[in-house]
Amino acid sequence: MTRRIAIVGGGLSGLVAAHECSKLSDASITVFESAERFGGKISSSPLGASIVDDGADAFLLRTSAGSDLCQELGIGELRSPATHHAGVWANDAIQPMPDGLVLGVPARVEALRSSNILSEEGIERACAEPTLDVDPVLHDCSIGALVAERFGREVADRITAPLLGGIAAGNLYSMSLWATVPVLAAAARTPGAWSQNLSRSLPVANGTPSPAFGAPRGGMSALIERLIEALQARGVELLTGHPCAELPEADRVILTTPAWESARLLAASAPLAAALLGQIRHASMAFIGLAYPPGTATPDPTSSGFLVPRTANRSITAASWSSQKWPHLGQELIVRASIGHIDAPDALGGSDEDLVAQARADLADMAGLSATPVDARVRRYPRSFPQFDVGHLDRITELRHHLRVEAPTVSLCGMAVQGVGIPACIEQAQTAARQASTE
Ligand SMILES: Cc1cc2nc3c(=O)[nH]c(=O)nc-3n(C[C@H](O)[C@H](O)[C@H](O)COP(=O)(O)OP(=O)(O)OC[C@H]3O[C@@H](n4cnc5c(N)ncnc54)[C@H](O)[C@@H]3O)c2cc1C
Repeated sequence: MTRRIAIVGGGLSGLVAAHECSKLSDASITVFESAERFGGKISSSPLGASIVDDGADAFLLRTSAGSDLCQELGIGELRSPATHHAGVWANDAIQPMPDGLVLGVPARVEALRSSNILSEEGIERACAEPTLDVDPVLHDCSIGALVAERFGREVADRITAPLLGGIAAGNLYSMSLWATVPVLAAAARTPGAWSQNLSRSLPVANGTPSPAFGAPRGGMSALIERLIEALQARGVELLTGHPCAELPEADRVILTTPAWESARLLAASAPLAAALLGQIRHASMAFIGLAYPPGTATPDPTSSGFLVPRTANRSITAASWSSQKWPHLGQELIVRASIGHIDAPDALGGSDEDLVAQARADLADMAGLSATPVDARVRRYPRSFPQFDVGHLDRITELRHHLRVEAPTVSLCGMAVQGVGIPACIEQAQTAARQASTE
């Protein structure tokens, strides 16, 4: 009899899982999506005269999962951001981020001397890091604690936290080193100074650095569209407007829903696994998109935007100069500002108009953008960013153990499990699909 595989959730993870299952077996495959459209957190919509990605606008090329999938789907050459550096708010101005960082952690401490971000004492403290007598880090800890211990609290709060905390809308002092950024964890596990170990992953000096990020030329939604086309061609049943109230009837089920929703779906059949899933905290945030008239200038036309540390007490946590990053967006200045993080549960309490007003006020004050936008939009992402708290990987191992015992026909993937970025979601979905198709 033909194996039936049900996939719950039609975001990127669900569609990739379906695609992989359809390649590996002749099972009858159904994707259940509660919304009226596929794509989940990936979408795009008009802003000013352009179509602009609402959420993700590129993926890391450090692993090949994203680019391999695009190639397989016949998406042509990827485009990469035209800008290569960002700023950070410090000393009442936008300062260029220092060179030689690996995801906000200094790999070349001497480069901190020429930045205007740290105090004199902060610079001396950070520059002593290569001489510290340290042991390899063999147990999980928070990234914030380790950065503060090795480079001093100023580096943690003024450089690493705005960058890494910003990506996950999280708190650097609860973010797991092991689970959040594997490249940082691997360098910390290696004997020797953290900065020197990290410097091996920097582009070779004087070489042409290969781009760190890529995106389909049609924007991130093109990836979703191509996946849907491929699935339709393979006869996969694709259902939108179909929320699963319970686990669907099938030989194998792949859950790609947010952790809190997967916990609800598993509560009856796999209570121990569900309890662990339910413990994963999620942050809410919003992207405020603003289109300013052509000719509106940012403080630095070569920058991709700037990050805002929490110590600045502003509403926005970052602003991206999208049209500088992606010149195809045309003559208007397209800005995407983010508001909200795990420790600010009330940040999104106001109306859309309130959020636009807060973003505009910060952008006017911090970046001199006082022009009136020709268009504005707000995209809210409630309970959307899973927090990888210290010990996350151990909890996931335990969770998978319970799932194998309690609900052996169910596989789990998605951004809450082992990586919030697009490449990690693709890899996990492919692994879940292999289990569902062959075991
Ligand atoms: C604002 C923002 C910016 C981001 N930027 C980047 C970036 O630049 N680069 C990057 O690599 N990553 C980025 N990410 C992360 C990336 O977008 C996500 O990791 C990825 O899209 C998650 O896909 P998913 O399928 O796992 O989850 P989701 O997209 O959340 O999909 C889950 C789906 O399940 C559906 N669903 C829920 N409950 C049910 C139910 N009961 N029955 C049926 N369906 C259900 C939902 O409607 C949803 O469509 C960003 C995320 C956000 C929110």
